[in-house]
Amino acid sequence: MSRIVDEFMAKIIAKNPGEVEYHQAVKEVAEVVLPFVEENPKYKKAKILERIAEPERVIMFRVPWVNDIGEIQINRGFRIEMNSAIGPYKGGLRFHPTVYLGILKFLAFEQVFKNSLTTLPMGGGKGGSDFDPKGKSDDEVMRFCQSFMAELSRHIGPDTDVPAGDIGVGGREIGYMFGMYKKLRNEFTGVLTGKGLEWGGSLIRPEATGYGTVYFAEHMLGTRGDSFKGKTVLVSGSGNVAQYATEKVNQLGGKVVTLSDSSGFIYDPDGIDAEKLEFVMHLKNVKRGRIKEYADKYGCQFIEGKRPWGIKADVALPCATQNEVNAEEAKVMMQNGVYCIAEGANMPSTNDAIDIYLEHKILYGPGKAANAGGVSVSGLEMSQNSLRLQWTREEVDERLFKIMSDIHDTCVKFGKDGDFINYVRGANIGGFVKVADAMLAQGVV
Ligand code: NDP
Repeated sequence: MSRIVDEFMAKIIAKNPGEVEYHQAVKEVAEVVLPFVEENPKYKKAKILERIAEPERVIMFRVPWVNDIGEIQINRGFRIEMNSAIGPYKGGLRFHPTVYLGILKFLAFEQVFKNSLTTLPMGGGKGGSDFDPKGKSDDEVMRFCQSFMAELSRHIGPDTDVPAGDIGVGGREIGYMFGMYKKLRNEFTGVLTGKGLEWGGSLIRPEATGYGTVYFAEHMLGTRGDSFKGKTVLVSGSGNVAQYATEKVNQLGGKVVTLSDSSGFIYDPDGIDAEKLEFVMHLKNVKRGRIKEYADKYGCQFIEGKRPWGIKADVALPCATQNEVNAEEAKVMMQNGVYCIAEGANMPSTNDAIDIYLEHKILYGPGKAANAGGVSVSGLEMSQNSLRLQWTREEVDERLFKIMSDIHDTCVKFGKDGDFINYVRGANIGGFVKVADAMLAQGVV
């Protein structure tokens, strides 16, 4: 089998040179799905995985804008429309200086499987720019978003492609982009998700990815008759996903002892309770400051330039970015007794780190399953927009909980291996089958 995977990967690498994150994401899927395809000749003959790994469309464009001191700036914008077999393209926009084709193609590829797992009718896409919102004024962010949308608006629409937020794109950026789309198209539609509550947004959308990740982890713990109650939890990141993961862990009786940003991490052995979390939310969402200020305020440790995986704990929730846990760090976590890892971020663990989790047979929920709550509530936002209705907080939260529970069931169905549940296998095959069957039905398009 490894020969088949190697041959498949050789073609992917030749066709997508230098896009290392894309190679990594495809390899993780190919190792599980290609053996399954060998057992199911209908998928093999139709070359389904080969077709999924080739984006339906890649859009790349210039984004010129003028900064506050009158200088012209030029960024690059992207949208990867990866797969529309089961619904309109759906996936976030990332604004971060590291953004290039390889990052967005990995994210769009993951999104295809993730969206399939949610049970909702959404295809996969992803986009963004190498623009860095950090240190920019609100006016600069607005001018950038308007220029970005001036081009992107030609390619998206509520039945075609519906972007959302991701790293560097929150409520402020979605607002500026929605405003520009509406002006250009003269349409008030659900073309973006993550909108403000007064103009088409859904309750629970900001919370959805973090809450969903914790619901998924609670289900994993449940398979061992366990729960978050009394558990010590490591969280990385301090943005949208990390904040609401922390909130939900607190509600379920666990204790979060770390948060991080790209400068380092804070370790608060007393736990980041509701009051301290409020400080973090204000610091990150309003002041746009650094996590170090938490350590200064609460008198705990700030460990500069490091990630939190060396701290003793029961559960880890990586919620910052890709490849933030390597094999060495995975080994340290295993030695320290971490036995449940649910990924709020996309592809935070390297493939070598994942091998270590699987060797140790811990509860490991890969991002495409564990963090699907965000896109699920985006899907619910689309439904509410189409119905011209707004559901209550309780109703959306109940639906989110049910979707995370269904995703967990799918992973168990396809990933059960004796007493062990291989969630990597479960998520990849569970996500693949629905898209593959739709592609078979729709012919070679
Ligand atoms: P935010 O921009 O709100 O927060 C990102 C956090 O991660 C910040 O604390 C940031 O620190 C940190 N971070 C970003 N890049 C790096 C890096 N290279 N090294 C170390 N830390 C870094 O983003 P989100 O919380 O929305 O997204 C976090 C992760 O969750 C991403 O992987 C995203 O793809 C994934 N995700 C998000 C969803 C959503 O609904 N928002 C849905 C599903 C997945 P700093 O401020 O220093 O950059």
